[in-house]
Amino acid sequence: MFIESFKVDSPNVKYAEGEIHSVYNYETTELVHENRNGTYQWIVKPKTVKYEFRTDTHVPKLGVMLVGWGGNNGSTLTGGVIANREGISWATKDKVQQANYFGSLTQASSIRVGSFNGEEIYAPFKCLLPMVNPDDVVFGGWDISNMNLADAMGRAKVLDIDLQKQLRPYMEHMVPLPGIYNPDFIAANQGSRANNVIKGTKKEQVQQIIKDMRDFKEQNKVDKIVVLWTANTERYSNVVIGLNDTAESLMTSVERDEAEISPSTLYAIACVLENVPFINGSPQNTFVPGLIDLAIQRNSLIGGDDFKSGQTKMKSVLVDFLVGAGIKPTSIVSYNHLGNNDGMNLSAPQTFRSKEISKSNVVDDMVASNGILYEPGEHPDHVVVIKYVPYVGDSKRAMDEYTSEIFMGGKSTIVLHNTCEDSLLAAPIILDLVLLAELSTRIQLKAEGEGKFHSFHPVATILSYLTKAPLVPPGTPVINALSKQRAMLENILRACVGLAPENNMILEYK
Ligand code: NAD
Repeated sequence: MFIESFKVDSPNVKYAEGEIHSVYNYETTELVHENRNGTYQWIVKPKTVKYEFRTDTHVPKLGVMLVGWGGNNGSTLTGGVIANREGISWATKDKVQQANYFGSLTQASSIRVGSFNGEEIYAPFKCLLPMVNPDDVVFGGWDISNMNLADAMGRAKVLDIDLQKQLRPYMEHMVPLPGIYNPDFIAANQGSRANNVIKGTKKEQVQQIIKDMRDFKEQNKVDKIVVLWTANTERYSNVVIGLNDTAESLMTSVERDEAEISPSTLYAIACVLENVPFINGSPQNTFVPGLIDLAIQRNSLIGGDDFKSGQTKMKSVLVDFLVGAGIKPTSIVSYNHLGNNDGMNLSAPQTFRSKEISKSNVVDDMVASNGILYEPGEHPDHVVVIKYVPYVGDSKRAMDEYTSEIFMGGKSTIVLHNTCEDSLLAAPIILDLVLLAELSTRIQLKAEGEGKFHSFHPVATILSYLTKAPLVPPGTPVINALSKQRAMLENILRACVGLAPENNMILEYK
């Protein structure tokens, strides 16, 4: 059965004016390696830590500024949200299609809340805590191409034509602000697009982005903004001591107009200085150590990297399943071809390299979790190929071959072929990223013994379900397995309303 909403009745949770307060027992373990009776043993000690969570329930009017607003993702997301808000339907050759938010974890997935009369009861994910309704988000942003969003939607060739016609009047007047352009960081084939760029030194460019954000907030009367990079994949920046390794060196390098500070890092600096959450949806190392340092110093949320939309999402499910089943993946080979502008940009070796790095570590945690299958340091062969094929447009092809060793030396080969519009996968993920980033800035917590409530760490690991190469604070484990990432997110939100983590034990029926 499906219910639309619920309230928790527990001595551990109080719904007050403007706030939900919960007390939560975090069951965890502590490990020690100690000498007992002459031999070293691992001793595991279960422990319970009492946490308190405080969630501000005032849902702000939210502005979302996209870097690369006029791209396929930016125009598809903007059109998709308008279509939902306006209740637009359109004719396809199959049927009359209604706008929806399929593919969005927050808007289209559910959670189990318990059982009632022997039936499992589910509710929308979004009813766990008060979240911004995507229909109410005001979109804006920057692009190095000055094409308005209606034309950009046409250029993207993603949404159905009947829908595009209906959306056009809403999007014609939407024109991206000039962006920071540095041809050294993206493929040369993007040069012809760059007719809308911010002039000046790097310091002046950062100041312009700050001004743009303030103006946007003022003009649209929004309470908060979130900025998300969905512009072209850049090449990696070199990380050099004294250049971008600390907050101070990074800021000095901006002053000195150093060539190696990328456009994405400049946008991120502007956001951190303004305390605006910044999310990186592409694979490059926008978050150089100096930027992470700056975000930590100023307690400003950063999250990334690279939307986990298709092939990598499947990989983080399939390898988790195989390794979890005691099967040993030995070779994982992934081919992609796509014909959109992202594909054209990725046809340059430096930008492809960023994508390759981002896609490469995704199975590491699963492999490391099973010392029966893998020797220390052993790793499956893992190859990723991406080719630009203009004809297929945004309709990306992903072909994967997984070869595994099974019982008694047998081999199992699984082959997947996925054809899918890339931007229709990415757009709902962008929405989840901005809505969850906003929500996480309204949650405060403290463990027993801690004097004061504090926000989550500014490096937002809570968003890792949505990213290919989750950015984590120094010294934090990286979790790629999709089910663990989803459980982490759901269980933290459940804790905020005093609900235990979903343990799937269903003891009531045993
Ligand atoms: P796109 O090329 O259609 O759009 C990118 C836009 O960014 C373009 O309009 C371009 O003019 C603009 N741009 C480039 N540099 C800029 C800058 N410095 N400032 C402002 N604007 C700039 O690409 P897309 O298909 O929308 O994808 C966007 C990004 O998302 C890519 O980096 C891609 O790798 C990443 N991504 C996409 C998916 C997916 O499923 N679609 C998944 C993971 C990551």
